[in-house]
Amino acid sequence: MIPPFTYAPLAARVLFGPGRSAEIGAEVAALGARRALVLSTRDQAGMAARVAAPLGDALAAAFDGAAMHTPVEVTGRALALLREARCDALVAVGGGSTVGLGKALALRTGLPQVAVPTTYAGSEVTPILGQTEDGLKTTIRSPGVLPEVVIYDPDLTLTLPPALSAASDLNAVAHAIEALYAHDANPITSLMAEEGIRALAGALPRVVADPDCRAARAEAQYGAWLCGTCLGAVGMALHHKLCHVLGGAFDLPHAETHAAVLPHAAAYNAPAAPGALSRAARALGGLDAGAALWALSARLGAPRALRDLGMPEEGIPRAVALALEGAYPNPRTPDAASLAALLRRAWAGEPPAAD
Ligand code: NAD
Repeated sequence: MIPPFTYAPLAARVLFGPGRSAEIGAEVAALGARRALVLSTRDQAGMAARVAAPLGDALAAAFDGAAMHTPVEVTGRALALLREARCDALVAVGGGSTVGLGKALALRTGLPQVAVPTTYAGSEVTPILGQTEDGLKTTIRSPGVLPEVVIYDPDLTLTLPPALSAASDLNAVAHAIEALYAHDANPITSLMAEEGIRALAGALPRVVADPDCRAARAEAQYGAWLCGTCLGAVGMALHHKLCHVLGGAFDLPHAETHAAVLPHAAAYNAPAAPGALSRAARALGGLDAGAALWALSARLGAPRALRDLGMPEEGIPRAVALALEGAYPNPRTPDAASLAALLRRAWAGEPPAAD
């Protein structure tokens, strides 16, 4: 029998397909805007300028200072430019860092956003914003930060280096795995999760082997959209908590940390959520989700050891203590000993296990 559930779709207009970023002018105009602020990182300033070119006179200003974890000081500088240039819309061209800046500005101004994602992070379809101030990261959830329009143009991901593609991919898969065993999981989100995992797990080995393959890039971005939608729709659990703690306490890189922890979190939760994890395994083309993720990360050449990402071994007890702080739903109730064992394996790059 289907259990009772609540499904609350988040409204966004989504355009998908190679070359569709060329429609940006019409999309900004349809929002009733005339003066867009275009956001990017410094690395992607050139790409953002090319994407924004069809805006013509509606391109009012460009800010290329977006940074990881949305520092409020950066948001403050972008806000000053936005006001000086009297902007009435936000266009974010980039990964989760740039999309995060757009969300932070939307939160402060109420301006509409067009997101043009260039990684697989999925932030563009979530109402979640993480911000940092004085080294402290806080996360808010508000419908006001959700972009009104998302343009997925897989051609813009062709320049995403294979290593970052692999890590970003496993970051997206993590959203879908945790959606399958979320405390508020529902049949619709689970469908998206399974399809998202299938698409990403199938496409990414092809992307890494041939980064110029447009078909594989499109399949991967389609999967990333589905996985991001899962992240926005239902609550995440132990895996996201661990990555949040590790990123904050040891300044580890976001997507790579997800890649290294995911097989371990899946194996840890498998005994408590066998149905969800067998669906995940099926989507990954294996029999056991933890083992299939471990094999996938090897095929992708993704990071497997937290020590390689800069985590000190003596940081494990602190990470365990932080991960146990604050109640959050997880299929298996975490305890200090089993979390320490999980983190030790992830730190050393050993295969996942359930104990
Ligand atoms: P990122 O946005 O930090 O990008 C990493 C680097 O890759 C940057 O230098 C960027 O300019 C470059 N890059 C991005 N796309 C490129 C492309 N196509 N070609 C060449 N270079 C490219 O990385 P990310 O993993 O997308 O995002 C991580 C951030 O997003 C973190 O701060 C994380 O907390 C946040 N995030 C938030 C949510 C949410 O729902 N709020 C979800 C996922 C991630």
